[in-house]
Amino acid sequence: MTLLPEELKKDFPLLQRTVRGGRDLVYLDSGATSQKPVRVLDAEREFYERHNAAPHRGAHLLAEEATGRYEDARATIATFIGAVPGELVFTKNATEGINLVAYAMSNAATSGPESERFKVGPGDEIVVSEMEHHANLVPWQQLCQRTGATLRWFGITDEGRLDLEHLDEIINERTRLVALTHQSNVLGTVPPIDLITARARQVGALVLLDGAQSVPHQPVDVAALGVDFLAFSGHKMLGPTGIGVLWARRELLEAMPPFITGGSMIEVVRMEGSTFMPPPQRFEAGVPMTAQAIGLGAACDYLTELGMDRVHAHEEALVAYSLERLGEIPGVRLIGPLSTDARGGAVSFTVDDIHPHDVGQVLDELGVAIRVGHHCAWPICRRFNIPATTRATFYLYNTLADVDALADGVRHAQKFFGTH
Ligand code: PLP
Repeated sequence: MTLLPEELKKDFPLLQRTVRGGRDLVYLDSGATSQKPVRVLDAEREFYERHNAAPHRGAHLLAEEATGRYEDARATIATFIGAVPGELVFTKNATEGINLVAYAMSNAATSGPESERFKVGPGDEIVVSEMEHHANLVPWQQLCQRTGATLRWFGITDEGRLDLEHLDEIINERTRLVALTHQSNVLGTVPPIDLITARARQVGALVLLDGAQSVPHQPVDVAALGVDFLAFSGHKMLGPTGIGVLWARRELLEAMPPFITGGSMIEVVRMEGSTFMPPPQRFEAGVPMTAQAIGLGAACDYLTELGMDRVHAHEEALVAYSLERLGEIPGVRLIGPLSTDARGGAVSFTVDDIHPHDVGQVLDELGVAIRVGHHCAWPICRRFNIPATTRATFYLYNTLADVDALADGVRHAQKFFGTH
């Protein structure tokens, strides 16, 4: 394996604990949220113990230090995705970043060369896919409802890939924005972003990538991707909860109206009206999530030192092994691509004659934490005609032994319910 996960586990205090009567914890739910290394916990604690103040306000030393650390974190995170700090807006999570863009597209009271692109109305189309997390689906449904625009989507092939047969028809001259997952949280699928982006460029449409499952798990470089927006969450990449990022091309951010308004984002306020700061401050109203941003900066440092190529390769090995181990169990149906090509570390499956919730419960009794349900991507379950799946998701601290524990647990569930 390219990483030494047994060694890395020592950096994560939570992974030292036992569960369910002294069993070792096998944590296979990092797609929902990742565990945090001491480095991140220390960065937050150090901020509160030594520098706590509201950034961008106050004239005292602590305020200066807090501002410096907050902006340093922005620069670190920007570097992590190949961006510059002025293009990076801190949000609560990926969900909020996507909502920010959707809101801008129905409230465009802006000026400048790019502003026309945000005025969506009847006759315009927004394109998503059937494999989106609800966070990258519901905001676009709502945008279409508010503006009279039409929502269109790519389907999913039987193999669990994006169905691109009608690419040129689905993305057409009426398309204003294509909002797509960069890695499915259920199927693991990584869609061919270059093809989609090339077609979107032909018709002048914007492209937003939901990077909630890609940025934590594979090297991501926004310049190389050639997209317009990228949203992701800190808590899925070893960082704290309550911090996320919306990256956008600077010209677009400049053309976008504010989403949440109030303190810290204004230039001049009079009773008759107000003017707003340039981005990114325009989109960061109120006292920001300062310790969380600093924690996320520390997470990026940790990941950078390990190397995202190695993190990705490690997960690829775990996926290959779990596809093999689960695939050899009679009665297990894998949902999603069966090869590791263009695929990340989410492995979903059903077990004949046992409801996923029951599989989850048996695994939990054994100390194996996985997720069951529709994983906030309900249309995928409809597409495959199943009520729910059991899903294992991996990260840098998972071992091949964790995969063995999962496979053994599934066999145990089958024995328990007498199905095999
Ligand atoms: N997009 C994908 C693909 C996800 O997996 C998730 C969370 O699971 C989200 C978006 C939403 O992330 P958050 O809840 O952190 O906003």
